[in-house]
Amino acid sequence: MSKQYADIIINISHEALDKVFQYEVPFALQKKISTGMQVVVPFGRWNKEQTGYVIRLSDHADYEENKIKEILRISEKGVSIEGKQIQLAYWIREQYGSTMIQALKTVLPMEKKVEQRLVKTVRLALNRPEAEFFLEQAKAKSRRAQARLLEELMEHSQLSWEIVTKQLKIPRTTLKRLEEQKVITVESQNLYRNPIAFQVQKQTPKRLNLRQQMISDEFKHDFLAKNYKTYLLHGVTGSGKTEVYMAAIETVLSQGKQAIVLIPEIALTYQTVKRFYERFGDRISIMNSKLSQGERYDQMLRAKNGEVDIMIGPRSALFTPFRDLGLIVIDEEHESSYKSESVPKYHARETAIARASLEGASVILGSATPSIESYTYAREGKYQLWELFDRAAPGSMMANVHIEDMRLELKEANRSLFSRKLRMMIEERLEKGQQIMLFLNRRGYAGFVSCRSCGHVLKCPHCDVSLTAHRGQKLVCHYCGYQIVAPKICPDCGSPYIGAFGIGTQKVEYLVKKEFPEARTLRMDMDTTRKKHSHEEILSAFSNGEADILIGTQMIVKGHDFANTTLVGILAADMSLYSNDFRASERTFQLLTQAAGRAGRGNLAGDVVIQTYNPEHYSIVTAAKQDYKLFYEQEYEYRKLLMYPPVCQMLVVFVGCSEFDIGKKATDMLAQKMRQKYMNMEGLSIIGPSQAAITKIKDTYRYVIYIKHVEYAKLVEVKDDLEFYMENQKIYEKVMVTFDFNPMIGY
Ligand code: ADP
Ligand code: ZN
Ligand code: ZN
Repeated sequence: MSKQYADIIINISHEALDKVFQYEVPFALQKKISTGMQVVVPFGRWNKEQTGYVIRLSDHADYEENKIKEILRISEKGVSIEGKQIQLAYWIREQYGSTMIQALKTVLPMEKKVEQRLVKTVRLALNRPEAEFFLEQAKAKSRRAQARLLEELMEHSQLSWEIVTKQLKIPRTTLKRLEEQKVITVESQNLYRNPIAFQVQKQTPKRLNLRQQMISDEFKHDFLAKNYKTYLLHGVTGSGKTEVYMAAIETVLSQGKQAIVLIPEIALTYQTVKRFYERFGDRISIMNSKLSQGERYDQMLRAKNGEVDIMIGPRSALFTPFRDLGLIVIDEEHESSYKSESVPKYHARETAIARASLEGASVILGSATPSIESYTYAREGKYQLWELFDRAAPGSMMANVHIEDMRLELKEANRSLFSRKLRMMIEERLEKGQQIMLFLNRRGYAGFVSCRSCGHVLKCPHCDVSLTAHRGQKLVCHYCGYQIVAPKICPDCGSPYIGAFGIGTQKVEYLVKKEFPEARTLRMDMDTTRKKHSHEEILSAFSNGEADILIGTQMIVKGHDFANTTLVGILAADMSLYSNDFRASERTFQLLTQAAGRAGRGNLAGDVVIQTYNPEHYSIVTAAKQDYKLFYEQEYEYRKLLMYPPVCQMLVVFVGCSEFDIGKKATDMLAQKMRQKYMNMEGLSIIGPSQAAITKIKDTYRYVIYIKHVEYAKLVEVKDDLEFYMENQKIYEKVMVTFDFNPMIGY
């Protein structure tokens, strides 16, 4: 037998957490040990016994062999969920860059023990004659509280703590005494806080159409053969992807395994959740960011205890500690919210695939507009591609899409917000009593404020961004919340010609009301959806026909089916083309396709009007044709030309510092170090250092270095080297350095 070694993380409460220690696996344990197992090892100078988790096994030693100690034994707990989670945390730490503690906090929900909400029940512990005797005695001694309680308990045999203390007003001391005398018992039970209490009728599944059935059968076949894969389900909005997910989940549950369904927070609506409840009943648990920490903890605990089999939630639900995970579904897999914005900047898609491979589970990614990454991997055969080409509901059709060139409108002296076509169509729908959605990729009353005399733009003093005008003469910074009253004269040149440009949802609503005074409007944007349920309320009000026109930002393009909505107007379609990252075209295509998919979901034919100043841009042309593949081909060529992901892998080294000079120096040093060290690494390109596009946010100066290589592992190597380098340089105590692999945002 050859030697075997194990990388071990010492118990997670230990301060040596960030390090991995290598131990030798004794021959007797070689066949028994596996990753994720808890083991006991000699630790430190005094060889104190410590428990640790095996995160990797290998057949070679990374250190001098005579310095490597042996594992003592496998702990009684063996393989635990914690072990697997720690393994995943380690993978995240390696892959995205963070400390082990940060990674563990991401993965383990139990980091902080939250007080459990207990339900207490008071029961009578005496039999009938004993109780009667006791009651008489109590009455005789005029112990009125005792008598009251006894009478009540003899009638009901058990009472809730609230009734006993609040309604019957029995003092706690009395209860304590009675408990000690064994007259009553008080039981505490853990009440799980289920955030959604649904009362729904269980529905029998829809009869799948041919393609849905073929796909579901294929999944079943693979799954039963323990052939766990990653699938990409590409299907237009309304093609019945959710039905496919549910069929796959059915297969997984039938094997006694569990499933996680990730949905973007914004799409986690009553409607979606209800569909799952109708199918699977209360074996489901829901998570969302509005849950309290206690509620979240409870949900995780329920999963761990095997009380639920399906967890639905946004990104963080990925870490649900199921014991026998069979499937992870990621709906709308292209959504940028699947990437964490804080360190570790993990992507839920990649992490799901990693978790699935650690635990033997399958992954289904679904989208009408798959990310360029996923579609590329599907083409390369890394994922299996499934396609649904048509809308599933009988009689439901795709909408007709019209592109309106706003430059032409201007030439024809139409200065209004609405093209002639859109205006005509709005009037027509209003007459017919059908509904309209107007979509604007922006919020606030208007855009930035500038001086027409000198061009001065009013900026936030803490962030390098312009302030946005809001109703009530307010100027607000959307990055830090800084607010001022709009000045009457230019602070730079004193000119009175200062005003707001651009347009926001409030302004659109105002203009709609002006042009179509008879129309009832609803507005949905960041400002109108601050409260917990407002998002849901606005959508259901619209769904119930309480308004004719719904005006909103990207929030309105997700979720709900609005059968009576037959017109979608996209104002300023090109707005998202002007952002500063390489995904701008992709995002524009996704937004437009999704917005277009909102029209004509019922039996009424729909129209979509896209208003733009870039009618020839490929993202707009292909979105109008609703032709994903055509868009993909062009976008892929662009990425290839400029070596952007997924053609190349990209690492952003971000440096933030409150002092301009120190930040600059720290960034320069990193770039210099890399250039020195990797002079000979073929295919590595280092771009920068430079100031970020937004040079300052919240008084923090921002710097970036971009690094590219076709191999992800090479970038990880660079990251590891930089981490090591920074440990020994004082200057990095004053700056914040974070790593972002294949970023979803511009810097
Ligand atoms: P997606 O998830 O792709 O947007 P859904 O699963 O939500 O699509 O399906 C869209 C609509 O079509 C829903 O109202 C759904 O109930 C209906 N639907 C899906 N599959 C079928 C089917 N096989 N037969 C009839 N209706 C279906
Ligand atoms: Zn001025
Ligand atoms: Zn600011």
